[in-house]
Amino acid sequence: MHIEFHGAAGEVTGSCHLIEVAGRRILLDCGLIQGGPKDVARNRDAFPFDVKSIDAVILSHAHIDHSGRLPLLVRAGYAGPVHTHRATKDLCRIMLKDSAYLAEKDAEGENRRRGRKGLPPVEPLYTMGDAAEAMRRFRGVGYDEKTRILPGVHMRLRDAGHILGSAIVELWLTESGVERKIVFSGDLGQAGTAILRDPTPVREADLVILESTYGDRLHRSRDDTWREIATVIGNARAANGNILIPAFAIGRTQELLYHFARHYRDWGLANWRVFLDSPMAIEATAVYLRHSELYDADAAALWRQNGGRLLLPNLSLSHTARQSMELNRIGSGAIIIAGSGMCDGGRIRHHLKHNIWRGNCHVLIVGYQAEGTLGRALVDGARFIRLWGETIRVAASIHTVGGLSAHADQAGLTGWYGRFEGKPPVVLVHGEQAAMGALNGRLKAMGATVSNARRGERLNLN
Ligand SMILES: [Zn+2]
Ligand SMILES: [Zn+2]
Repeated sequence: MHIEFHGAAGEVTGSCHLIEVAGRRILLDCGLIQGGPKDVARNRDAFPFDVKSIDAVILSHAHIDHSGRLPLLVRAGYAGPVHTHRATKDLCRIMLKDSAYLAEKDAEGENRRRGRKGLPPVEPLYTMGDAAEAMRRFRGVGYDEKTRILPGVHMRLRDAGHILGSAIVELWLTESGVERKIVFSGDLGQAGTAILRDPTPVREADLVILESTYGDRLHRSRDDTWREIATVIGNARAANGNILIPAFAIGRTQELLYHFARHYRDWGLANWRVFLDSPMAIEATAVYLRHSELYDADAAALWRQNGGRLLLPNLSLSHTARQSMELNRIGSGAIIIAGSGMCDGGRIRHHLKHNIWRGNCHVLIVGYQAEGTLGRALVDGARFIRLWGETIRVAASIHTVGGLSAHADQAGLTGWYGRFEGKPPVVLVHGEQAAMGALNGRLKAMGATVSNARRGERLNLN
């Protein structure tokens, strides 16, 4: 009985761990590696294990850094099931299709450049067909149901409160009469996140595999952040301008819409027209609306109170490019939520072009902005930006509100771990060195035995 760490070990993305018990092999997550060109290139490497020998895959949640290499796994010959939460299955249908679409578009662009140089074309990382094939392997389950997935292997998913359908994975493994219980945190949410329940505490484990994304910091209070957002909306109304919100399609967008619905009166939202201008976010919102059984108490109450509607009366969904372009004519009174979240692609770039040079425009940054993205340049106070070869002055007010992270901070992580009985040993994954190091120290101070996973490392579970 052992576990090998093949991804998100010493880094954040590419989550992938392999468990072997009584001759059976189970893959926990199969995520895409994200980051710079060198990191991304590793997605094309062969898997560091025999794909055809895998008996089952368990997927913690829909984010692409956990699910994004499943199409490659299936193309490489994996024919077994992908066990995951029902809502994750619904979200993956959107995520994997989008990921494949981007891969195909990337290859197209690359091949135009290569063609001009007389170089042979490259294949996309995977295609929409590969993504559809992977989806056929998905088997959806609910939370809190203990199921036997293989002889000697039982699984139970618990709500991780990170995005809809996100799961903590409990695994009971039996080999030669010895049982071991492994708990994989997946990505843990931050308590108080709108719509979702807080991460489920778990009491028993022989080993905990714990994410550490924000193991070295404490988030600002979510309530303060929402108050700040309310102030921005009030000021923008007085200035008679538009508000642009670059938002991630899954999670952040729905949280925004939820708070808009909840504060419709006290934030004066009846004075605005709200546009959700992202086909992917529209689809993801539909999945959130379909799974009201997963809401926390506040969202469930609002849901009942509004008779099963969480959407605003003045919300418009822009499905087509034409509907999106029509927004360019609106000079004031519009709140436009559009992707991508870091402004490095998508429709938000058009809205920036048409609005950011206006002094009465407000840009609300509600998510993480990676180094090198346009969103980061705005956060860092760029006075001019370049879009489609044109230089555009940044006259708009840029508001960066922290505190809406989808991940637990250090206190959230140690608090969740603290609910285990008997301080089981911990292996840290899904974090940069600094974050893992800091969390490692905190957990040791609590009396835990802690190690940081290294890529390719094997840990005996007997
Ligand atoms: Zn995640
Ligand atoms: Zn993740």
